[in-house]
Amino acid sequence: MSTPLRDKLYNHILGMVERKTKLTAGFTEFYKENGGKENVLKELNLSKSGSWKRKLKELYPGEFSVSKKGTISRVGQSGASQPNVLAKNDSKSTAKLVMKVDRVDESSLESHIQNWIKRVEGFSGKSKGRKGRKKISTDGVGKPCPTCNVQMVAGPKNGKPFMSTIEHIIPLSMGGDNTYTGEFPQLTAMCFACNQARNKVVQATKKSDRKGLVRFLITQVYGRIDDSLSAFMDVFKNHYKIQTGRTLEHKTSTNQDIHLIQAGFCGNNAVSTASLIFDMFGSHPIKNIILLEQREANLIDFEAWNPYAPEIILVPNGDDNLQLSALERVLSTTSKAICMIHPSKTSQTFERLLQSNNIALLKPVNQTNINARTSIKASLSRLLPWNWFNWNKTPRALEPSTVLQNQKKDLEMTEVLEKKEPQVSTKSVDRTPAKQSGGPAKNQHPLEEFRKRLIKKSKHERYRESGLTVGEIQSILFSMKKKTELSWSQFFKLFDLKKKGLSEETVLTILEMAAVDYTTKTENETMFYMLNKKQTKLPVKEQVKNPLEEIEEVPEKRFSPEQRIVINAALEKIRTEISNFESEGKVFKASNLSRVYSNYGGGVEFKKLLGLPISTKLHDMFTMLFGDAFKISGSSPNWEIRNNPNHKSTQEE
Ligand SMILES: [Zn+2]
Repeated sequence: MSTPLRDKLYNHILGMVERKTKLTAGFTEFYKENGGKENVLKELNLSKSGSWKRKLKELYPGEFSVSKKGTISRVGQSGASQPNVLAKNDSKSTAKLVMKVDRVDESSLESHIQNWIKRVEGFSGKSKGRKGRKKISTDGVGKPCPTCNVQMVAGPKNGKPFMSTIEHIIPLSMGGDNTYTGEFPQLTAMCFACNQARNKVVQATKKSDRKGLVRFLITQVYGRIDDSLSAFMDVFKNHYKIQTGRTLEHKTSTNQDIHLIQAGFCGNNAVSTASLIFDMFGSHPIKNIILLEQREANLIDFEAWNPYAPEIILVPNGDDNLQLSALERVLSTTSKAICMIHPSKTSQTFERLLQSNNIALLKPVNQTNINARTSIKASLSRLLPWNWFNWNKTPRALEPSTVLQNQKKDLEMTEVLEKKEPQVSTKSVDRTPAKQSGGPAKNQHPLEEFRKRLIKKSKHERYRESGLTVGEIQSILFSMKKKTELSWSQFFKLFDLKKKGLSEETVLTILEMAAVDYTTKTENETMFYMLNKKQTKLPVKEQVKNPLEEIEEVPEKRFSPEQRIVINAALEKIRTEISNFESEGKVFKASNLSRVYSNYGGGVEFKKLLGLPISTKLHDMFTMLFGDAFKISGSSPNWEIRNNPNHKSTQEE
């Protein structure tokens, strides 16, 4: 029997125990990383048949038990680990993923503190010369700051507050030295803001409080701050906020629940991904939601993801849909959210929105990369800065120059969003004819869209044999509704239904209305709807005008008096700009609208101010806001905006 592999598996299983990984998923992962199932079983001298429950007994008698749910636990979990096994940790093996329990030995930390208290109290007052080691600060770049957990950057240009610096844990002025080895190195990389804030704490502390100060300075980095040290912590937080504009929460909050929202197909390496998150953030995602474009539904290995992501949600095709759905998710969770998105699906707007909400972003580099772990890690380290704290929700006041820059970006990005038609790129993984994918055709009645989606979904291999449950049909309506940004009752009006919410009954009514041919079967008390392979085509004339278009013409009274003022001011401003441009023989274009938006903090803010969805297109927005005051011609993003000579009255009255 191969002993190294046995040890490796042991560590892998410990990881599975920690992560409550299901047997199948966990072992599949192990096989994958160790030359396949056959190879693993052969090396471990195990028979091909028989359950893993039995195999575990054989390999590690009395060590593990398997629950009915298919997760492993350790028998008589005493916490006594197997040091000899852990010591052999192969750096390449999955053993690395084994949960790193906070292994700081409390007693050795305590004696370290006591030792320093003695040294500080006996300090002559003659400081040692400063001997920094540049390597410490350069090594800190890309790593989380030990005190505030924000990822540290290389130099002031990248953001001074989070620049990696060398911190003397006990300042030289108090008797600290320049050592950087041992269990609790005296020199460590730390962000500039924390370094400064700690200096302020030292300056603010009376000599008589030195004992507590030493304890604070050490435990803030190597241990856990308890209530007895909160006075120091308060001073620290104050100065930290001055440095960064952000409110720092207690360090222990790193272990807060993490929600991972995966947008787009990011590979099927579920175990690695979950472990990666753990490695990076010290906590496993307690909830993992995968949002997938419908056209990519057949890429995902549902079984592999199931133990980690019970929720896999199919959204309409298109990057915008994906991004909006992801945003909605990450912003609605009360836990810490991480958003993982495939690089081809992301956009600057999206990333900026995440960043402004302090949500970390993971971008795996390669979609079908076997080594997703490494690639995510690499891309993560490039993304600066991320952080793991609930910052103060109120955004930091920005310098005027930053505001201007942001406005410019906002406009560019709004236009990018507007320009993006639902399209299937040639590189797309779409396996169905192109015309099937993409958003619904313009002027398509929602019922028709629903019908098409339903038929498409029923053909998907996941449902082809089993049929669809009401819930699965319901999700189609759900994603359609989401796209319209209407309330449920408004949405159902499109179907001429007076309903306030989505109920099973409504789903079935719409199913009937959609005129699809189907049969039903009942299994385990669940009704499955099987659509017939052949569906009668709806006569073309039944396709009425999309009622959405009428709804989008928002009645004027929707705007509040304050909003009307903004609208009128914008209208006047656009008119002025148009005449300015015309006097120079130029045409005012959509890209010049930044001049208008700039008063309101950018295009996105402008829309927000007026209660318009960010995705509102230029045409629709102009109609809503200014009626027929302007004429828009040309094509996105170079829309040309002119005064409408036929425009009779303004909307002021
Ligand atoms: Zn810091």
